[in-house]
Amino acid sequence: MALTPKERMAIPRQQMPEREPEERNQDFKEVNLGFDESIAKLEADRCLQCKNSKCVPGCPVGIDIPAFLERISAGDLKGAAEILLDANALPGITGRVCPQEEQCEKVCIRAKGKNGEPVAVGHLERYVADWARENLDIKTLLADPTGIKIAIVGSGPAGLTCAGELAKKGHDATIFEALHKPGGVLTYGIPEFRLPNKIIESEVDRLREMGVKIICNVVIGRTFTIDELLDEEGFQAVFVANGAGLPIFMNIPGENLKGVYSANEYLTRSNLMGAYEFPKMDTPIIKGKHVVVIGGGNVAMDSVRTAKRLGAEEATLVYRRSRKEMPARDEEIHHAEEEGIIFKLLCNPIRYLGAEDGWVKGVECIQMELGEPDDSGRRRPIPIEGSEFIIDCDVAIPAIGTRANPLLSQATPDLKLNRWGYIEADENGMTSKEGVWAGGDIIRGAATVILAMGDGKQSAAEIDKWVREKAGLQPVG
Ligand code: FAD
Ligand code: SF4
Repeated sequence: MALTPKERMAIPRQQMPEREPEERNQDFKEVNLGFDESIAKLEADRCLQCKNSKCVPGCPVGIDIPAFLERISAGDLKGAAEILLDANALPGITGRVCPQEEQCEKVCIRAKGKNGEPVAVGHLERYVADWARENLDIKTLLADPTGIKIAIVGSGPAGLTCAGELAKKGHDATIFEALHKPGGVLTYGIPEFRLPNKIIESEVDRLREMGVKIICNVVIGRTFTIDELLDEEGFQAVFVANGAGLPIFMNIPGENLKGVYSANEYLTRSNLMGAYEFPKMDTPIIKGKHVVVIGGGNVAMDSVRTAKRLGAEEATLVYRRSRKEMPARDEEIHHAEEEGIIFKLLCNPIRYLGAEDGWVKGVECIQMELGEPDDSGRRRPIPIEGSEFIIDCDVAIPAIGTRANPLLSQATPDLKLNRWGYIEADENGMTSKEGVWAGGDIIRGAATVILAMGDGKQSAAEIDKWVREKAGLQPVG
């Protein structure tokens, strides 16, 4: 019998079961254990099935969230999985890394009021995606093959989603990836304790089963240019999703000392190259005893938690604003606190100190206070004169952001860039170059997985329309 709204309101938000902090900060196994059937059903029962649900427009890929939750409540996990996969090609990933508290869960009606708590849409997404992976052979309906070849540059969430959508529409989609493994930041950046590789591999395999081709170790702009793809390799259109993976440094003294890693290099060594298993794996990593990570976003949080797992006695996060302004996902900040990460807030590095042998031995920081809000809407950090102090360290990791790598744009001079070096694209992803679309971090600057996926989906719809019109083919439904 259906629950009344009052009965639904009486159910408290269900907590995600997780491993104990002292155990999990010693290894790279996943922190969250996932809902079981009874918890998932109870959580889904909390949904009020709103007529004008705010959660759906709150989701960048437009999952029909109430319908999906209703199927879980009814015990129909196959139905729930079909709704999920119809809108989202990578639900096992987004269920783990989306900032839901800023999207669907932020606008959920149940989040309203002083003690309001949104329906745990993300945790349920993860539950259904994991169930489907173990139990279901979902065959996605593919349109009749068109024989039209479309190239995708980069296999991060934008490229994977675009390729999957194009394959559904019957096109011959080929992804070119510079690294030796697909997944973009999902594979080289986000550690296994948040997003296990097997989840990425299985979601990539599903795309391969749909006919998506992935060719690794190909750098577009070097191995082929975009013009060569269009003029010589038979591709009718190109979607550029090469991300924004070039690290930014602070340009403070001592950044060239040994033991100062960019977060990108540190995480790539550990995640992509498996350095945490050195010498079983070939790539080494410096396992500092006192590691300082600078920044307050997901990248900083992943780096400092990795350092702890690599054996740091003290893993310290230095962030120039307060906890409230930290851009990292709430759950990651909370997990980092539980795992014994030291937070030095309202504090900014001004130089790295080196020992005689050229290795970093400390970071000099200055205390900050918050002033008026800046362009980002967050309160501006202002240094407090005379408050300098030193944190001893043997590894320091700046994780203060990334920008576009100019390699591809330099080889494609007719691709218009904005003043920060990102590709200019309209709301449908169309660039200044005919036949070329772009999406994800390369048009937005460092953003999120789901926004990159939304771009991939949007551009795929536009590319489909454009190539069909050019080839004189009927649109698909
Ligand atoms: P990317 O994921 O960067 O993928 C681009 C791909 O293109 C890469 O594989 C790259 O090797 C390839 N490439 C680059 N140049 C070329 C070329 N010339 N030829 C061929 N291939 C090329 N977002 C969240 O929503 N939640 C999180 O928890 C989160 N955590 C993060 C943690 C870290 C450590 C980092 C770095 C980012 C995190 N983000 C998170 C941000 C998110 O991962 C990115 O916004 C997202 O991956 C962008 O997707 P993309 O497809 O545009 O690019
Ligand atoms: Fe359910 Fe919240 Fe969406 Fe309403 S807003 S339909 S309660 S998930």
